[in-house]
Amino acid sequence: MFDRFDRNLNYLRISVTDRCNLRCIYCMPEEGIKLFRHEEILTFNEIQGFTKVAVSKGVTKVRITGGEPLVRKGITALVRMISDIKGIKDLSMTTNGILLKQYANELSAAGLQRINISLDTIDAGKFKTITRNGNVSEVLEGIEAAKSAGLFPVKINCVIKESKEEEEARAVTRFCIDNNLEIRYILQMDLVKGHFSTVDGGTGGNCSLCNRLRLTSNGKLKPCLFSNLEFDIRELGFEKAIMLAAELKPECGSTNETDAFYNIGG
Ligand code: SAM
Repeated sequence: MFDRFDRNLNYLRISVTDRCNLRCIYCMPEEGIKLFRHEEILTFNEIQGFTKVAVSKGVTKVRITGGEPLVRKGITALVRMISDIKGIKDLSMTTNGILLKQYANELSAAGLQRINISLDTIDAGKFKTITRNGNVSEVLEGIEAAKSAGLFPVKINCVIKESKEEEEARAVTRFCIDNNLEIRYILQMDLVKGHFSTVDGGTGGNCSLCNRLRLTSNGKLKPCLFSNLEFDIRELGFEKAIMLAAELKPECGSTNETDAFYNIGG
């Protein structure tokens, strides 16, 4: 499926929940967020049905994200339902890793191929501050569990303020080298102000190469992270929502005043 600018839209990111077990300072307000009502959240059947249609239009790469995907009840069953779809060549997940020790093996058995784990610091105190009370040991155990479960490659998402030479990022870099992990540095973004840039070590942030569509947990299909444009897959139907998103995907991101990272998933 190609858009007006000849970009092959073969990558679907699915946010399966707006809930998270961390409160990262750059992602969520301290007081938490107004959560979607249960009936607003897409069911597993809707997510699978939509993904099937997206795959029939040319999507071959799927990433499951959130909120925190591992807090969605029955996540392994959902991964299985998605991995069963013929035509998906690359199935991955982005997680904060807190619950990974518990889930890594079953996710791998359900067909998850690889995983990105967010880690901005390996210092326990700083991690607690950034995540507003998270325990970095749980993430480190989750990383080990992902490696043992064969979720290869394990990639680390490290959010930086300005440079990968910042003290925290340097320590995470060292940790990744020592533990055979790939690292991607993501400059802290601001959706409302339209601040974004390319991801060092990854493919994000380059509009001319952007091959992504994003589905929020309440069923809005977004052709661009930095745009208010969205198409409701329940109201429009799966096929029409995909066609409109592909047709109207902006050439370049601008600003997004209607969403936040915790409901789109980055
Ligand atoms: N809970 C999962 C996690 O922590 O990886 C998945 C969702 S989280 C929104 C996805 C990614 O977006 C994480 O790597 C996170 O660090 C990143 N992120 C969140 N807010 C961001 C921001 N303002 N700028 C850049 N990256 C951000």
